Amino acid sequence: MAEIRKLIIIGTGSAGYTAAIYAARANLKPLIFAGPEPGGQLTLTTHVENYPGFPEGILGPDLMEAMKKQAERFGAELIYDAVTRVNFKIHPFEMFVGNDKYTSDTVIISTGASAQLLGLESEKKLLGHGVSTCATCDGAFFRNQEVAVIGGGDTAMEDSTFITKFASKVTVVHRRDALRASKIMQERAFKNPKIHFIWNSTVDEIHDPQKGTVTGVTLRNVKNEEKRELVVNGVFVAIGHKPNTEIFKGQIDMDEQGYIRHHQRTMTNIEGVFAAGDVVDHYYRQAVTAAGMGCQAAMDVEKYLEAKGH
Ligand code: NAP
Repeated sequence: MAEIRKLIIIGTGSAGYTAAIYAARANLKPLIFAGPEPGGQLTLTTHVENYPGFPEGILGPDLMEAMKKQAERFGAELIYDAVTRVNFKIHPFEMFVGNDKYTSDTVIISTGASAQLLGLESEKKLLGHGVSTCATCDGAFFRNQEVAVIGGGDTAMEDSTFITKFASKVTVVHRRDALRASKIMQERAFKNPKIHFIWNSTVDEIHDPQKGTVTGVTLRNVKNEEKRELVVNGVFVAIGHKPNTEIFKGQIDMDEQGYIRHHQRTMTNIEGVFAAGDVVDHYYRQAVTAAGMGCQAAMDVEKYLEAKGH
């Protein structure tokens, strides 16, 4: 019979690692599953300038490596696997990696959300090198430059408006001729002289992976198939996010979009199962807010176990 852990943390973004640091320091000896993208979304970015404590900024992967080391220093145990199945209907809770079973008295779900991508090879290669999924994080790198924002929802409008604080011109590229964004966000964008729109168009290619930086995009008009080149220094992909909650469906209460709902503080509908970070929050989506929630979840776990007499 495998050891029953006090706490298993699923996911290693800033929420998961922060939860691990707090839980390890509380002697809960947490076991953490790294997941399919160890380190989470911050490993897909380069410079992070808004995480407090780093006046010169820090590279996303370096920040996550530092968080990992800090968690391990206090005794957190990391497994480089992704949980493939869970059973939260019995206690202790069961988590599986293939056929290997792990059991625990409490769980923190910190599997994050993934930004939807266009699916281009060039996009993958230039992610963090001119292609970004986070305007708040990367907008300031495009001072006096021209960028494209892809998407027609609230995020695309909010991102475009935000980036005009820095960029000289923002071109919104949307696949239809009408925006999905709320009227107020649309109007704000339409009124902004720095924001331009290209309708009925999708991105066929982002240039230039060979140079390791963004030099422009090839757009395709979906109505007449005409192609055109747009010179830009940056591309912000704002076509939505997807919470990584597939394996919890049917067991954990979620909203219509699949984000986990808190029921009591950071606890989910299941007593003993907690959730933190972007898997819960589709509004702030910042490393520092996720870290904050990871801390809250670990403290809630500690109090919960104490109350149960552990
Ligand atoms: P969203 O509302 O789902 O919009 C995604 C946009 O991307 C849509 O315009 C969609 O086009 C487009 N798109 C999707 N897949 C695409 C693809 N493969 N290629 C090109 N374009 C693609 O996502 P969101 O803007 O991230 O917003 C998510 C939720 O958060 C919404 O409920 C939103 O209201 C909310 N939100 C609110 C605020 C705010 O109130 N301040 C800010 C941000 C987000 P179609 O329109 O053709 O489907």
